[in-house]
Parts: sequence; structure tokens; C-alpha cells
Amino acid sequence: MDTANLTYDELLAQHRELQFQLEEANDTIEAIRNGQVDALIVKGAEGHQLFTLKTADQTYRVFIEKMNEGAVTLNHEGMILYSNSRFAAMMNLPLEKVIGLKFETFVPEISLEKFIGIINNGWEEDCKGEILLTNSTRILIPCLLSCTTLDLDEGLALSLILTDLTLQKETEWELKIKNDELTAAHNETEKLNNQLEDTVRERTKDLLISREHFKLLSNNIPQMSWTNLPGGEVDFYNQQWYSYTGLRFGDTAGWGWQRIVHPDDLPATLSKYESSLKTGHTFEVENRYRRWDGVYRWHLNRAVPLKDDQGNIIFWVGTATDIEDQKVEMERKDEFIGVASHELKTPLTSLKGYIQLIGAYKKEPLPAVVKQYIEKAGVALNKLQHLVNDLLDVSKIHAGRLEYSMAEVNLTELIEITLDNSRHIYPTHRFENHTEGIYKVICNAERVEQVMMNFINNAVKYSQVNNQIIVNAQAKKGMVRISVTDFGVGLSPEQKEKIFERFYRVEDQKFRTGGLGMGLYISTEIISNHKGKIGVESELGKGSTFYFDLPLLT
Ligand code: ADP
Repeated sequence: MDTANLTYDELLAQHRELQFQLEEANDTIEAIRNGQVDALIVKGAEGHQLFTLKTADQTYRVFIEKMNEGAVTLNHEGMILYSNSRFAAMMNLPLEKVIGLKFETFVPEISLEKFIGIINNGWEEDCKGEILLTNSTRILIPCLLSCTTLDLDEGLALSLILTDLTLQKETEWELKIKNDELTAAHNETEKLNNQLEDTVRERTKDLLISREHFKLLSNNIPQMSWTNLPGGEVDFYNQQWYSYTGLRFGDTAGWGWQRIVHPDDLPATLSKYESSLKTGHTFEVENRYRRWDGVYRWHLNRAVPLKDDQGNIIFWVGTATDIEDQKVEMERKDEFIGVASHELKTPLTSLKGYIQLIGAYKKEPLPAVVKQYIEKAGVALNKLQHLVNDLLDVSKIHAGRLEYSMAEVNLTELIEITLDNSRHIYPTHRFENHTEGIYKVICNAERVEQVMMNFINNAVKYSQVNNQIIVNAQAKKGMVRISVTDFGVGLSPEQKEKIFERFYRVEDQKFRTGGLGMGLYISTEIISNHKGKIGVESELGKGSTFYFDLPLLT
């Protein structure tokens, strides 16, 4: 424009016009900056022209292209007007193939109704919902669908944003599986816990029943009974104990029972009790307990240990059986045996005398058969006398009246004499004397010979096949051991333990021979009176060696 010919007023008007245009341009720039305007229509020589704000549009496009969600725009017919490449990737199709398709192509039958509902609603207001989509490879994709209407130049369109929920669903699914597993484990634990509680309840019940059972049992047996701990302290007595003693628990608990044991029996009782506690072997002792009225009665005490799997003692169960009446009976029996054997002895002695007289009768010759009868009667009388003597000895032992007059004795000689006798009585057997050296002891020669004879009698009786018998004497640590060895039936370990008891005889019929089981009992008594020791080494079927040790004279 040429301004040189313009008047001042014209210039002023032009300046105002330019000023106005400048202000308008400034306003527009400001509006663009504030985002209030995204396109401008500018009137030019070729009419009106639309200028979109390219830079802003690009920013949005980049933003939409790069976002992780699928974005599509639909028209009213549901046709895809615009799709970002993320949605095309989700559907596994090239972008250009997606645009123009009906969106429903990607909606499987199962989600169709829900999809239509969301879309219809979406035209009215912003809304959301979860649906499934199928892509070109028929993979189902769970999606969150958000709808918003868009007011475009071409008319109203519907913008869909699709968030792929696959990962979230998978995580949810895994979470659910883990949760289910957790619930299952929890249920299992609860079940186990319940079972455990049931077992504990059951066991507690069992324990109570077993305790009651024990109490009922122990309160209803005639014996007194108790339990004691591994250390020996009594922690339970049955009813009979209290009725007998007339005392309360505290009076005899722990080691308090000693106060009712007869003072004469206490040392032996204590020593056996302590030894059982130490070794764990069955406790057995006879003693007298004081009754509530002060009367002492004999009791047989027995206690057995209860052990755990490792063999440790948990506690002991003991019983005390009243044997007073049996003791009295035994005494009467012993008395009777004493009197009877004594009474038998006198006629037996005269009988023996008469038989000897008949044997020595010389006036008329006796027929051979009568001589034979006299001999047999003599042997039978000897046996009878032997038995009667043994019976007398037993009753004397019991009454503490077995007498011993001690003197110095040459054992080597005594063995010779005994063996000479034995060879005479038992011509069926071969006797060997292995004794070397002279052994002297202080003893009652008759009684020691009696023990040797008893060993020899037994050796003969119990070795009917192998007839060899060896007698020996050997010194060891200030003692001399006299032994009698046979090669007969032998003894089992259980039998070995019992044979020194009074009237014990091995029950086995195979080995049954005459005898009342008194010989070894008497022998034990004799040897212990000489401060010696008696014993046996034996093996069933092989033979036995019976021996006794006596202190050597120094
Ligand atoms: P008995 O008079 O019955 O022989 P003892 O007291 O002498 O009585 O012996 C007790 C038991 O010991 C016998 O019944 C017998 O079973 C056993 N006995 C003794 N000596 C022997 C032996 N030498 N061999 C096998 N058993 C024996």
C-alpha cells in the first residue's frame, strides 16, 4: 500500500485499523496458547480458508499412538472411523484393514449383548464395562471398554478406549489359584488341627480311663500296692495301704514307708530296694509291716519297673502281699517235719540195728535169697536214713540249730576218703581226683563231707550215660575251691537260679529222679556257715560243675 499520498486523517484511520488488527491477532494468539481455539478460519483472496493448529494436533496424535490402550472412533453405524495402531496390534491386523470395519467384527457372540448395551449407553453419557474381544487369530482378549462421545466436524462420533486386561486377568487368575491353594492349605491345616485336637482329646480320655482303670484295679486287689519313681520315692498308695497302716499319704510318701517296716527287717529291705533301683531288676523281699493297731504281719514285697522304648525306667509298680498266715503254716509244717523226722529217727535206728544183727547171724547158715533180701533192706534203710537226716537238718536250719564243731581239717585227705566211699557206693561210675597239693581249712569235717557227698550223689543221679566224675581242689586268692564235675543232663540258666532254694526240684519229667530238693539247700547253709561260697557252672545237655569255696588256713 502506498501511504505517501494519504492525509493525516486517513493515516490515523489506517493506524487505528492496524492497531485493531494487531489487538485481534494478539487475542487469537492468547486463545491458541490457552487451548481455547484449535482451528482458524481466515478470509483470504480465495475465500474462507480453514487452518488447523497442526502442532497441537500432532501432539495428540503422537500421544494417542503411543498410549498403551487401544483407541478407536466409531460412527453411528458402529464403523471404525479412526483406530490407533495399538488397537490394530491388539486385533493382530494392519491399521489400514481395521479402519472401515464394523467394530462388532471383533466382538464374540458371548460379549455382543453387553457390548451393544455399553455402546448404546455411550452415546448418551460416558460409561465403562468389561467385554471380550477376538482378534484375527481367534484369541480372546478381555478388555475394559470406556466410551465418550466426540463432537467432530463430520458430526457426533463415539470414542472407545480399550484397555487390554489379559495380564491383569492372568494375574487375577494366578492370584485366585494361589488364593484357592492357600484356602485349601488352610482347610487342610484346620482339618489336621482338628484331628490333632481329637487325638489329644482321645488320648487324654484314654489316659484318664487308664488311670481310673489302674486305680480301680489297685483298689480292688487284696494286696497293698504303690508306685514309686525311678529315684525310689513313692508317689501313690492304694486304698488297702491306708486301711492297713491307718496313716495318710503324707505320712508314708517318698521314703516315709520305712517307719512301718519292722526294725529287724529294715536293713535287708533297704539294701534290696536300693540295689533294685540301681540295677532295674525286680525287687523282692519278705518283711514285716506294722498294722494300724501296732501288730506286725509278714508281707512279700515285689516291685517291677515300667520302662520306655529306650529302656529307661518311668516308674515302678509294687505290691505287698500278706503272707503272715502262710508263714505260720510254714512254721507249723517245719515244726511237724522236725518232730516227724525226729520220731522217725528212733525206730529207724533200731530197725537198722536189727537188720545188721540179722546180717551178722551166724548160728545157722542163711539161705542165699534171704542174704540178698537183707542186703536190699540195708540199702533201702540207708536211703531212708539219709532222707530222715536231711529232713532233720532242714528243720534244724530253720530253727537255727544246725551245729558245727570246727577243727583244722586236711581237705586233700577228706577228698580222698569221700572218693573211696563213693567208689564203693557207686561202682557204675568212674571217679577221677585231679587234686594236687595239700589244702587245709578250719571246718566241720562231717558237714563239709556231707556237701561233697551231696554233689557226688547228684552227679551220679544226673549222669546216667557218661559215667565220668571229676573231683578237684584248687587254691585262688586265699580260698580253696572244691569242685565236682559230671557230664550229664546239665541245667538251663533259669534252673541254675533256683536249685539252691529249699525243696526245689527241676520239673522236667525227663530228668526226674528220686529226691526232695533238700541237698543243695542244706549244702548252701553249711557253706555259708563256713564263710564260704557255693555255686554251679552248667550247660543243658553237657553237664555241670558244682563247687564251693572255703577260706584257706594260713
Ligand atoms: P535232690 O534231692 O532233688 O537232688 P538237690 O537240692 O540236691 O535235691 O538238687 C536240687 C535239684 O537240682 C535237683 O532236683 C536237680 O534237678 C538239680 N541238680 C542237682 N545236681 C545236679 C546235677 N549234677 N546235674 C543236673 N541237675 C542237678
